[in-house]
Amino acid sequence: MTIDPITGGCQCGAVRYRVNGEVSHPHICHCRMCQKAAGNYFMPLANAQNGEFIVTRGEIAWFASSDFTRRGFCRDCGTPLVFETVGAPHLNITLGSLDHPASVRPDHQYGIEAMMPWFGELNELPGKDTEDDPYQDGASTAEIAATNHQHPDRETEFWPPEGR
Ligand SMILES: [Zn+2]
Ligand SMILES: [Zn+2]
Repeated sequence: MTIDPITGGCQCGAVRYRVNGEVSHPHICHCRMCQKAAGNYFMPLANAQNGEFIVTRGEIAWFASSDFTRRGFCRDCGTPLVFETVGAPHLNITLGSLDHPASVRPDHQYGIEAMMPWFGELNELPGKDTEDDPYQDGASTAEIAATNHQHPDRETEFWPPEGR
């Protein structure tokens, strides 16, 4: 049985990566720094060993969020990609940037002191599919899909495609 390598990248496709191995310690972090860095209520992360994390396209840009940690992102589109502690044998990859994010399931949480007080209630909110809400600020989901510049959830030989 062949196991597909774990791949991912940013939204625009300028930065792509591969993990030549498994990821470990999948978790979500609610700490205030991860909230800010993600622009979200939490950051989903898992460890990849330094030697097994390979940038296959482009270059990661960095912001040192403290003297001990730095956060890597795409300079072109802003997607958060990795988080690392200086000197650690591993870095953390953002699980939302994986090509197949549902393949890694978080099994613990960090930073729960900053967790949104209503975080546990989010799944009870009313919801619907993207297609069931056909207009978003005046553009239809079909129009948006027809002009989608997001990199697909797979490896590509060339990107962006000709004429884009
Ligand atoms: Zn990008
Ligand atoms: Zn955090």
